[in-house]
Amino acid sequence: MRKAGTEITLKRLAILGSTGSIGTSTLSIVEQFPERYGVATLAAGRNVDVAFEQAVRWRPRVVSLATEELASQLAARLKVAGVNGIEVVFGAAGTVACSTHPEVDFVVSAIVGVAGLEATHAAILAGKPIGLANKECMVAAGEILTAAACEHKVPILPIDSEHNAVHQCLRVGAHSEVKFIWLTASGGPFRRLPLEQFASITPEQALKHPTWVMGRRITIDSASMLNKGLEIIEACRLFDVSASQVRVTVHPQSTVHSLVEYVDGSILAQISVTDMRLPILYALAYPERPSSNLTFDLAALSHLDFEQPDFERFPCLRLAYEAAEKGGAHCIALNAADEVAVEAFLDRRILFTGIPRTIEAVLAATPEAHPDTIAGVLAADREARETARSVIAAAALRVHA
Ligand code: MG
Repeated sequence: MRKAGTEITLKRLAILGSTGSIGTSTLSIVEQFPERYGVATLAAGRNVDVAFEQAVRWRPRVVSLATEELASQLAARLKVAGVNGIEVVFGAAGTVACSTHPEVDFVVSAIVGVAGLEATHAAILAGKPIGLANKECMVAAGEILTAAACEHKVPILPIDSEHNAVHQCLRVGAHSEVKFIWLTASGGPFRRLPLEQFASITPEQALKHPTWVMGRRITIDSASMLNKGLEIIEACRLFDVSASQVRVTVHPQSTVHSLVEYVDGSILAQISVTDMRLPILYALAYPERPSSNLTFDLAALSHLDFEQPDFERFPCLRLAYEAAEKGGAHCIALNAADEVAVEAFLDRRILFTGIPRTIEAVLAATPEAHPDTIAGVLAADREARETARSVIAAAALRVHA
């Protein structure tokens, strides 16, 4: 937002998921551009120590924590430290209070899972532009969110690196001229692992991602390529294209963040350093491009590899395409079942290969439906989680029988 002349208007942010990796990267952008960005509210989740540090450093109007107990712990610590004037709230209503606060100019939606869904929807209804790092919102409720954004003329700017790249590549052509969106995938740590060894993958091995440092669920999702599957659905919703127009290419260097192929045969790619601060800055500043120190050394780049994804090693990709085509409840179930399955894998209750098996069983048990309210989405999400838990419990019984 820029007034006449070169004066820069301060954008005050709501950061939903402030203690996670996107949240802390966003705060480092605010630190770097104090004339452009400020902090209005923080939804911090469960980490009271980091929430306390952030509250003291940024003095937001409101801080929200996951539970009432955590909120009273934070309030007590702020009081002892002599920090006044910060409202401490909690739960889903607390997150909504953060995203819709009247002083908020822009919402960074970075809470992992569907926990951020209500607050993101409420922010759109309140007319707040969204920087979306939470792909689960788009997967579970993409139709509802994009319809609301359209109605309220609210921009949704993707922070997910691939969709951010696509957003940039789409600025040069018309929607009708787009042939394919090519999402790049690093392929994860198991790109070359023989198929028969997938069952013995440990959580420690799966938590080591070759190029990006991220949260636990998204790291496991990258190893299973379910993350790319969620991104296929996210791309369909964000850019209003069909699943058959979204393709995946494995690009181990993670240098090209994604590409758009136009009908005339031109393919545009976005290249930059693998640092989430760049897509965050792009989303915050859009349509401007502030100068940054996030440079990429093109001369050091020796080669770029692209290969077809292996649907046999990574059945999650196939499951995601199936869900993308059915839409609605199937997309909700894909995401919910995966979250439950990843947790079970990290707890060593199921094997790595149990993740796609769980998802497949839950998708098969999901009736075709298209919830048109957030409450309906959340109900379908709960139902899919229940199904996933019973699928996992039944599988565990069989293993121990
Ligand atoms: Mg991504």
